[in-house]
Amino acid sequence: MILQNQIEKQLETLSTAEALQWLALHCKESVFSTAFGEEDQIITHMIAIHQLPIHVFTLDTGRLFNETYELLDLTQKQFKLKIEVILPDSLQVQNLVNVYGINGFYESLANRKECCRIRKIEPLKKILKPYKLWITGLRSAQSENRQNMAKVEWDENLNIIKCNPLLDWSDEDVQEYLTQYKVPTNTLHKKGFASIGCAPCTRAILPGEHARAGRWWWEGSAKECGLHPTKVTI
Ligand code: SF4
Repeated sequence: MILQNQIEKQLETLSTAEALQWLALHCKESVFSTAFGEEDQIITHMIAIHQLPIHVFTLDTGRLFNETYELLDLTQKQFKLKIEVILPDSLQVQNLVNVYGINGFYESLANRKECCRIRKIEPLKKILKPYKLWITGLRSAQSENRQNMAKVEWDENLNIIKCNPLLDWSDEDVQEYLTQYKVPTNTLHKKGFASIGCAPCTRAILPGEHARAGRWWWEGSAKECGLHPTKVTI
């Protein structure tokens, strides 16, 4: 089995596209999760144009923006790439909304975390189970919580190596790539939405606000749903 430090070494010396090609070749049990953010679109584009045998999936919480569903559809068609859509357990969702209310996540942090657990974390755990390596589009500039992440980490909650190949990309790097390759992005970005998650839990940001200020804006400063909670550097 490929070792974590081997992956780290490759990521240090190769370009992002080359690193993905290397992973596809040497770590067959790699999987990439997209939420259709700009960074995710870049990795999806690289996987598509290089025809890399990396499984791509997305978590459909059932509460996404219609614009995100449109981008899912467009991306699959334009990139000629299959993106597996993972849904939460319907009985758990049914129980959640009947106990806490359809928008119960606004009422307490515990309610919100329970909603994220059922709609995101449990489905993620299930899909990641057979894989050894999870590729994400995380960047350190996205939030304070992400500044201490490493390009290659051991995710002890999910029991998987997590690889963040775009970690040190700047905002300019991202925009340059999207423009150069005409990569489709969520139309909500033009309406002031920076980081886009579920519709009821995302708002547009104001000038000068941090990119993740529009996520769970009624809460404190955590701005994470629990998918990327910890940092364990190898
Ligand atoms: S982001 Fe909001 S709607 Fe989406 S799973 Fe979390 S609490 Fe539920």
